[in-house]
Amino acid sequence: MNFLDLIFPRRCVGCNKLGAYLCLPCINKIEYIEKPICPVCGKRAIDGATHPHCQGKYSLDGLFAVAHFRGVVKDAIHLIKYRFVSDLIESMSDLLISNWSKTLPEFDYLIPVPLHSQRLKSRGFNQSSLLSHYIGKKLDIAVKEKILFRKINTTAQADLKLKERLKNLEDVFMIRDETDLSGRKIALIDDVTTTRSTFLECAKPLKQHGAEIVWGIAIAHG
Ligand SMILES: [Zn+2]
Ligand SMILES: [Zn+2]
Repeated sequence: MNFLDLIFPRRCVGCNKLGAYLCLPCINKIEYIEKPICPVCGKRAIDGATHPHCQGKYSLDGLFAVAHFRGVVKDAIHLIKYRFVSDLIESMSDLLISNWSKTLPEFDYLIPVPLHSQRLKSRGFNQSSLLSHYIGKKLDIAVKEKILFRKINTTAQADLKLKERLKNLEDVFMIRDETDLSGRKIALIDDVTTTRSTFLECAKPLKQHGAEIVWGIAIAHG
């Protein structure tokens, strides 16, 4: 136990039990995604790979998420986002790593879904970036953080309806012009994906700059 544990005792985000941010019974209640879907049409797809008939020139090639965005996973992700808890970031990253599918491509780069710099300033950190660095270290994949960025400050997606969400994201993501991603296999990393629109929009400029394969990878989907 360290000094901080005395001031802020660890309690399970699921059941409030003292000791750890995620207790074993709550970990055992995690609802894993057993029927992956195509990120473009949302229908079932083998291993979450985009259906051939859903593939466009600059599409996302697949979606991999570990758990449904419910219960303890939802609580943990909210807690990470609004009250930086680094141990919880590690727990969530470990959840992703231990379920990392063997069917996923061998990625060259992990790229965190970027926050706009203004939001980054007010929050102080980008949870997707922290996840990427932890995962990159464990899986020995390079993290490329400075390639992809957001053009304008979009309204928080959570406050919008589905149609508005898609509109809100159109051409929001950009890549530095000199970037050459020819033949690269890229995993976009985010904590949670809801409509998949962020991943789909991020894939576009990456593909336009030569990326061969782009997958969206999240801890939770829902
Ligand atoms: Zn618990
Ligand atoms: Zn499809």
